[in-house]
Amino acid sequence: TTAVLSGVELAQEIRAQVTATAAELTDAGVPPRLAVVVATDDESTAWYVRSIARAASRTGIRCDVVDLGAHAAPDRIRDELAALSEDPSVHGIVLQTPLPGAARAEELAAALSPEKDVDGANPVSLGRLSAGLPAFAPATAAAVLELLDHHQVPLSGRRAVVVGRSNVVGRPVAQLLLRRDATVTVCHRWTRDLAAHTRQAEVLVVAVGEAGLVGAEHVGPGAVVVDVGTNPTDDGGLVGDVDAGAVTGRAAGLTPVPGGVGPVTTALLLRHTVDSARRCTT
Ligand code: NAD
Repeated sequence: TTAVLSGVELAQEIRAQVTATAAELTDAGVPPRLAVVVATDDESTAWYVRSIARAASRTGIRCDVVDLGAHAAPDRIRDELAALSEDPSVHGIVLQTPLPGAARAEELAAALSPEKDVDGANPVSLGRLSAGLPAFAPATAAAVLELLDHHQVPLSGRRAVVVGRSNVVGRPVAQLLLRRDATVTVCHRWTRDLAAHTRQAEVLVVAVGEAGLVGAEHVGPGAVVVDVGTNPTDDGGLVGDVDAGAVTGRAAGLTPVPGGVGPVTTALLLRHTVDSARRCTT
């Protein structure tokens, strides 16, 4: 049988810890504050940002959504990130993607103070992560590791395969797995015979954005599969990159979509924000 590796209870636990820490910080005169910079009118982004804001307010974190509009110039976005980085009352800053045409997230995120870069978007954060130095990992990448730990999946010495190499998910997940002494293979768009690689995985992390990409032929018996993909369906639902029906019975465990990586991601964004705020008290 295939265990369903839910993220819902873990996200609740994290939010409970964050709520306690946020209350302590507020009592100490440092009310934690998160800013989310948005420059798109994309509907699914708006939905995601609302869910962050709701989760923040429930845990006692002030959350400001700074909407610069879908036509914001790159310089305008950069200036906003720099101003928030300078503002001592702001502890966490998220630059939400997608961005308007000419703007590149990696370049703009360089304007974010690494101390407040709670979603690990500044290339400096990814570099520090790769060098084994303290840094905020992108919340989604951190959520993959938190979920694996929560469900007591051993990593040291094991074969881990990551499908996808974006700076937001695939690459930082690979770095975090390396840090935990897994033997890591990274597959991507140009990988020949994807299934030959993924079948070797004891831990398989899929972050591509293509519904049904991973089927039974991609999964070795007993593998633990983390499905990061979020693909909207015609009927307004959400499915992952893994064909859950095909993999069930073969994998030892599979994270559901929705209810797997997603809720943990949001909770970790909040945890990173209180971690950043706590540094202001010491
Ligand atoms: P991206 O488009 O930036 O990167 C996709 C990666 O997949 C690329 O590295 C590409 O080389 C690789 N790829 C594309 N086609 C492939 C194929 N056929 N075989 C193997 N590799 C292939 O996407 P992203 O930002 O990394 O996001 C990936 C998915 O994760 C998306 O569905 C996204 O919505 C989802 N996501 C979920 C969360 C969450 O909190 N649950 C957060 C971020 C992203």
